Amino acid sequence: MTARIIDGKTISADLRGKVTDAVHRLRRDRGIVPGLAVVLVGSNLVSKVYVRNKSKAVAEAGLRSFDQNLPEDTSESELIDLIARLNADANVNGILVQLPLPLQINAQNIIATIDPDKDVDGFHPLNAGRLASGLPGLVPCTPLGCVRLAKTVHASLAGLEAVVIGRSNIVGKPVAQLLLAENATVTIAHSKTRDLPALCSRADLLVAAMGRPEMVRGTWIKPGATVIDVGINRVSGAQGKPRIFGDVAFAEAKEVAGAITPVPGGVGPMTIACLLLNTLAAACLQNGLPAPSI
Ligand code: NAD
Repeated sequence: MTARIIDGKTISADLRGKVTDAVHRLRRDRGIVPGLAVVLVGSNLVSKVYVRNKSKAVAEAGLRSFDQNLPEDTSESELIDLIARLNADANVNGILVQLPLPLQINAQNIIATIDPDKDVDGFHPLNAGRLASGLPGLVPCTPLGCVRLAKTVHASLAGLEAVVIGRSNIVGKPVAQLLLAENATVTIAHSKTRDLPALCSRADLLVAAMGRPEMVRGTWIKPGATVIDVGINRVSGAQGKPRIFGDVAFAEAKEVAGAITPVPGGVGPMTIACLLLNTLAAACLQNGLPAPSI
């Protein structure tokens, strides 16, 4: 059996189109233009590419950009001052601080400074707590994208045996919380988990988010399972040219799985689309409007 490929490019383009339409209606009917501030500190090349892609997507969706590029030697207090100004600016509905930050800045202190209602990355402890408590709030973009992709395969995730590999605050834990909210039976695996292959082979839905190139082999996968590969691993190729690999050995896995996301072209594009969705939702919330159900 060859798995159905879950085409994140097409699914995210559809979502971006819907967000763009909703942004247009918000501007036309209420005169509101959602604004996003993406804050980049330093000159990490990968971060710069991410930020450039985000800014392009923001402009295409009709949102307003308030990009902030700060030098590598920015101090924690300077960054906190900037975030306080963005928190107070009514035109800025969403604030995203690109991680990782330079070593002199404590990322947790920065995340905690962002107004939770503008926290479009969903990393603020209040939003993490809301998610864990089943309360409405802003949810991290990549996990949101993973669940939306899984729901293109399964009309309902209720009762599915789901295994999430990885327990980071950015991906693993929020994915697990979202799947729990969808009534899946969720197991979180991590670097200390015993017999990971046996655990994975029980999963109807497997989410791999550990940052280990092609670690999940085809033999670990339950026949017919849905596999969501979050990993983005840059590995030097033959001529030193970097190639991107997921956390799943795609060529093997697609022969066993029922449906699988490719890398690239799976979860990655969904992350940006969900960032646009979160910014729109934040703008609605801050203007006393219900978030559009997209
Ligand atoms: P992280 O390093 O913060 O966390 C990795 C997790 O994997 C940890 O909880 C660790 O316990 C677990 N892990 C590590 N080695 C393991 C092993 N051998 N067996 C089982 N578990 C193991 O990483 P992260 O920020 O959660 O990101 C994970 C991956 O997802 C990375 O490849 C990252 O680049 C990618 N990512 C992709 C997107 C996207 O938009 N597609 C967004 C965020 C992260």
